[in-house]
Amino acid sequence: MDELHRAQKAKEEIGKPSVFSKIIKKELPADILFEDDQCIAFHDINPQAPSHFLVVSKKPIPMLDDVQEEDTKTLGHMLIIAKNLAAQEKLVNGYRIVINNGEQGCQSVYHLHIHVVGGRQMEWPPG
Ligand code: 5GP
Repeated sequence: MDELHRAQKAKEEIGKPSVFSKIIKKELPADILFEDDQCIAFHDINPQAPSHFLVVSKKPIPMLDDVQEEDTKTLGHMLIIAKNLAAQEKLVNGYRIVINNGEQGCQSVYHLHIHVVGGRQMEWPPG
């Protein structure tokens, strides 16, 4: 199943423990780059660039639309971790940060996460 079809089916999973919750609980393996009380970062299983990792909220917020004022600190923290890890991964010539939101945003896992993709020239507009 490609990413678009996965995204179209993914909403059925809202309310169930996400694959990322299982990674957070160490019920599923992942190549973990960083972890603290607010977030966990690991390499994407299906990388779209030479470097592609995810920074995932430990709080199981399904999507950006569900973020509340009280989550401001966590979101800011996740962005700081994303840029720190981009430096650690030596993405010195730039990288892209993405948050897919909802079906038309091509979101396939309903657990808030930031993509960091780099290591090649990005293009605009995105597909
Ligand atoms: P979304 O489409 O929701 O923005 O991104 C979900 C991402 O999670 C996709 O890039 C997909 O490859 C990645 N992903 C899905 N399942 C797993 C998994 O079990 N382990 C890891 N490391 N990444 C996953």
